[in-house]
This record gives sequence, C-alpha cells and structure tokens, in this order.
Amino acid sequence: MPSSEFDLIYRYFSSLGAGPAVDLSVGDDCAILRLESNERLATSVDTMVEGVHFPENIFPEDTGFRAVSVAASDLAAMGARPIGMTVALTLPEADEFWINTFSQGIAQAVSAYDLPLVGGDTTRGPLTITVQVMGALPMDKAMLREGAQVGDIVYVSGTLGDAAGALAFLNGEWQPEPDAAEYLLDRFHRPRAQIELGSELLGNATSAIDISDGLLADAGHIASASGVCIELESAALPLSAALESNGNSDTVLKWAISGGDDYELCFTLPKGVSVPEGCTRIGQVVAGEGVKLDQNVDFETGYQHF
Ligand code: ADP
Ligand code: MG
Repeated sequence: MPSSEFDLIYRYFSSLGAGPAVDLSVGDDCAILRLESNERLATSVDTMVEGVHFPENIFPEDTGFRAVSVAASDLAAMGARPIGMTVALTLPEADEFWINTFSQGIAQAVSAYDLPLVGGDTTRGPLTITVQVMGALPMDKAMLREGAQVGDIVYVSGTLGDAAGALAFLNGEWQPEPDAAEYLLDRFHRPRAQIELGSELLGNATSAIDISDGLLADAGHIASASGVCIELESAALPLSAALESNGNSDTVLKWAISGGDDYELCFTLPKGVSVPEGCTRIGQVVAGEGVKLDQNVDFETGYQHF
C-alpha cells in the first residue's frame, strides 16, 4: 500500500488507541496490552467481505460500527471485559471519504464498548474488514456454550428477527411504515454488542451464546455443547412492534427464529436466579438433545415447518 494511503489510515486511526490496559498502541511492530495477575485473555476474530457479509451500498460509518459490534459481541457472549482490538483492512482504493467516514464508525464503537484500536494491517484488494477483539476474564470464570443444566431457564436479550426483517425490506420483500423501517434498519446497520449484559451474567449464567446465525441454530450450539435439549416456545419470543407490523405471523416467526445478525445474547440461568432487565424467558432446558420449538424437533440443518 503506497505510503500516502497508509498516512491516511494512520491519520484517522492512530488517535483511537488509548485505554487502561494499553501499554503500547498503534505505531510499533506490536501493541502491548496488560492483564491483571488474576486474569486471562479472551480473543476472537471476525472477517466481513463486502457483498458477502454486508451489502455493497452501506454507509461506511455503519460498516465500521457494525464490523466492531459483530466482533465485540463474541466478548459479550463470554462475559469478557474489552481491553483492545486490531483491525485489518483490505481496500480497493484509498478513497479519503470512505476512510474518513468508516473511521468515524470505528471511533463510535471504540467509545461505545471501551475497546481501543491498538493496531492493524492495511492492504489492497476487494473490500474486507477483519476485526480481532481481546478481552479479559477472571482466572476462574467464563461463560461457555457448555454448562446448561436440565431444569435451567432459557432467556434472550432484546428482540429477535429485526435484522432479518430489515434485510427483507432492503431486498424489496416488504415495505414497513417509515418509523418501523427506520427502527429496523438501525437494528441491522447498528447492532449493539451486549457487553454490559455479558459482564452481569458472568458467574450467574450456566451457558451463553450471541445470536449471529439465528436463534434455533445458536440455541442448538448450546444444546449440543451442553448435552441437553432446549425447548423453546414461539409465543414467548420477544418481537419489536416494528417487526410485528409486517402482519404475517408466520413470516415474523421465521425471521425471529432463523434470522441472524441481531447479536442479542441467548443464555441459561438456574431457576430462581434473578433475570437482568430487558431479557425474556423463552424456554427451558430438558434432558435430551437438539432444539424443540413448540414440541417440533429442529434437526439442526433446517427447521422443517417453513
Ligand atoms: P508491519 O509491517 O510491522 O506490520 P505496518 O506498516 O503494517 O507494520 O503498520 C504500522 C503500524 O500501524 C502498526 O503499529 C500497525 O498496527 C498499525 N496499523 C496498520 N494498519 C492499521 C489499521 N488498519 N488499523 C490500525 N492500525 C494499523
Ligand atoms: Mg502490517
């Protein structure tokens, strides 16, 4: 990458790297992050390719915010405290408007999640964004997919299916009223990683996962990792008024159970443990395997009802 382009990136990105765990940030060969003596590092990486993982005409500010949110969501699902991230960017050209606007979305996510940008890489090619996140976990705690116990209650944060409803709208499949459209598009373009909820659940939840592939698939990951069956009730699924304005309850249910991209958390709590605000009970853990929705078995590869 020619140095003028690198200078551009550096100009926009080098001020986002300060944080309490950052000893050395952007500019040297490595960044140096600090863990407390009783902590472990949790790390995860996500790649987004334009036209594959996000549509081509998205506002670059949203692309930046969304890419970080998607990666940070994995920290939330483990209950990890964000300490820093690196961003590898592959760009077709050095378009200053794009880089400037994209960096504003990154900056908003840095401050939303207290997740400083401590390094990265910049190359030329088809637009691809890779975000690697790092977080701290206490030595003796983590929320895994395994750990759900028979008798636990299953919960989900927020509302389900909004991003799928937005995508269907963007694809011309339906036309929500302006207020509903605005809400749904915000849910798709600006998913919020549930970092605070994750840290609240750490030590209480017996298992957790972030919903990136759809509730059935992701609850299925908890079920198989934990060696249990998860029973879900469709009538209990939390839906936004904007999504329900679609009017077709089968379509709305399909979005809620199989739409990814909401980045809410699905988790299990033992009976009697108090439920964090904004979360809804959607089912229970029983003996067996897989996911059941209203007594219908989900065979993991595809929910047969639709
Ligand atoms: P190296 O050749 O050692 O990999 P680079 O020239 O790629 O070094 O990067 C120089 C510095 O700029 C490094 O500290 C790197 O982390 C940072 N950097 C490069 N690209 C990005 C980016 N897209 N976002 C954040 N930091 C970046
Ligand atoms: Mg490099």
